[in-house]
Amino acid sequence: MSAPLLSLRGVSAYYGSVAALRGVDLDVNAGEIVTLIGANGAGKSTLMMTVFGAPRARSGTISFAGEDITGLPTHAIARLGLAQSPEGRRVFPRMSVLENLQMGAALHGGRYFAQDLDKVCTLFPRLKERLSQRAGTMSGGEQQMLAIGRALMSRPRLLMLDEPSLGLAPLVVKQIFGAISALNREEGMTIFLVEQNAYHALKLAHRGSVLVNGRITLSGPARALLDDPSIKAAYLEGG
Ligand code: ATP
Repeated sequence: MSAPLLSLRGVSAYYGSVAALRGVDLDVNAGEIVTLIGANGAGKSTLMMTVFGAPRARSGTISFAGEDITGLPTHAIARLGLAQSPEGRRVFPRMSVLENLQMGAALHGGRYFAQDLDKVCTLFPRLKERLSQRAGTMSGGEQQMLAIGRALMSRPRLLMLDEPSLGLAPLVVKQIFGAISALNREEGMTIFLVEQNAYHALKLAHRGSVLVNGRITLSGPARALLDDPSIKAAYLEGG
């Protein structure tokens, strides 16, 4: 098997003197969806942000496509082909939908803009209807679609999504997860998905890991995790 696209080994990160990640090992192989589940405050967002260089890993190594990216500045990491849709969506609220997508395409100087816009609009037809609308006036679900669309406009090799289902109605969650699944299935997009919604995330992922208090406590095929009694009790109750 070829080397993982993203690999973390013994990664620790701190906020001041407080450890948020403690010796994390994690691999994402090309073509798979890997999900990281965990409770509030487990360190899921920190893990994603540490891959992007802020906060910096205090120990351990992070490699992407065979290159050691530990300690690289965020813009250099993005240029290598990592894109994220951060928690809370963070679209540019005063810009239109189209302008937000143009920002995502800036990495390539807009060279593939028309072609990629077409793809994003096929994936999220709702965005196509609203290209001139101010992003800040869109619903939560639409903003989530835009945040993912904007990340896709940079043509990433790895798409990292932080809690895309957060605060959304069940039907919208279904649409978003359906799009994530289609991206992987139809385009082979490699996706790292951070989620509190363990049931949905494990349903669409190939593999998963559980983060508890900054440590990975369990990793395996997503199906096995769905059936694991300890996961069921802790994360899937009522799911
Ligand atoms: P949630 O699902 O609630 O977003 P999470 O699993 O993503 O949680 P993180 O946001 O990574 O968790 O937080 C991990 C720990 O680090 C928490 O104890 C949090 O309070 C702390 N933390 C996060 N950001 C900072 C910060 N900027 N400064 C200090 N502590 C922080």
